[in-house]
Amino acid sequence: MNVVDSEVVAAILQQHNYQVTEKLDEADLVLVNTCSIRDNAEQRVRTRIREFGRLKEKNHSFSVGVIGCMAERLKEKLLEEETTVDLVVGPDAYRDLPALLQEVESGQKGINTLLSLEETYGDIRPVRMDRNHVTSFVAIMRGCNNFCSYCVVPGTRGRERSRDPETIVRETTELFEQGYREVTLLGQNVNSYRWKEGKQLLKFEKLLARVAEIDPQLRVRFATSHPKDMSDQLLKVIAKYPNLCQAIHLPVQSGSSSVLSRMKRRYTREHYMERIQAIRKYLPKASISTDVIAGFCGETEEEHQQTLSLMEWAGYDFAYMFKYSERPETFAAEKLADDVPEEVKSRRLNEIIELQSKLSLQSKELDVGQTYEVLVEGTSKKSGDHLYGRTSQNKVVVFPKGSLKPGDYASVTITDCTSATLIGNVV
Ligand code: SAH
Ligand code: SF4
Repeated sequence: MNVVDSEVVAAILQQHNYQVTEKLDEADLVLVNTCSIRDNAEQRVRTRIREFGRLKEKNHSFSVGVIGCMAERLKEKLLEEETTVDLVVGPDAYRDLPALLQEVESGQKGINTLLSLEETYGDIRPVRMDRNHVTSFVAIMRGCNNFCSYCVVPGTRGRERSRDPETIVRETTELFEQGYREVTLLGQNVNSYRWKEGKQLLKFEKLLARVAEIDPQLRVRFATSHPKDMSDQLLKVIAKYPNLCQAIHLPVQSGSSSVLSRMKRRYTREHYMERIQAIRKYLPKASISTDVIAGFCGETEEEHQQTLSLMEWAGYDFAYMFKYSERPETFAAEKLADDVPEEVKSRRLNEIIELQSKLSLQSKELDVGQTYEVLVEGTSKKSGDHLYGRTSQNKVVVFPKGSLKPGDYASVTITDCTSATLIGNVV
């Protein structure tokens, strides 16, 4: 989401005669787009800001802005605590950036952290900042209404709102015309996308079908699905369109119903398992990935074991795994004790990571001998003679270059694997 936001910010500033540069020593302004999801993300931002402070000592016309979730969460406090910072702008106030920058130029500090109920930046054509020109992201909604008890997002990004489907289809069509071959539609809970057209309600399944119909050569992914809202209808739509990728990201967070209840996730272990069975039924070839949090408030050893057993049962192909990090002003911070000792959190996270490494390897080993259509994304980091790309299941494949180039589709037979990568030959 932050990549998309940076591209929107670049577009707004370009309209006001600013130019993007990749060279720090050429820049008059640095905007740090921030994430508040865990404390360590914020600490990294603070270190970065202080590094920019040293540049400022050398070049007095250089300005530093903080945008995104950390700007929203800390507001004026950020200006007080980090004296290097000249500008603080929250995720719904980017249109105000040119005016705020004028204030900064005249020697004042600029701040706008107003949240909006409507802003989607739907009319703005983002300035693409990806490197491969093959895969890109398109935001279809902003904010979140779920208020999971551990999560800072509803506070920093505001209420959920969906973007006009016409602008989504237009932006995606333009990407395809520019040579992009894959888009990921983004929202905190894409299953609750809704847009009223007269009396008709356009839901996510319909939007997805419309985007898939732009061109069969365009792959479409989406993230993130919420287990409480993911419908059979959606799975049927994915099964119908070959260019809708066979990869479902379904964050579980915990395998214990009591922890899920404290997390306010609004589903149980059983409901989640039933959803996994539905994915297996409608999309037998799909990969399934997840997010897991270790050591949430009050988590017992038995509850942790339930997470491990659910992971094993689901046989996830991939997972993002985190240690619980208490975030100020969330329900959990205010009402629940962060009482799992640090060393226990670390040990549980390590057990989760170890199990997932085993599952990831098993998942890749099953692919050896199979042939997959791979979208080529670029040259392998390890060898100039090899390309890398991904399967519909979102698994990375490395293979000899031949005459292929980024943006091509190749049929690749898998000959070997590690827990992170498939290795193959073009057929
Ligand atoms: N909207 C998405 C996820 C957004 S945040 C969803 O609901 O799935 C991405 C992931 O960060 C979450 O799925 C969760 O696993 C993790 N996360 C969020 N808040 C966290 C916290 N306070 N501590 C640790 N991990 C957290
Ligand atoms: Fe956070 Fe929950 Fe919303 Fe995801 S669904 S962004 S975890 S509140």
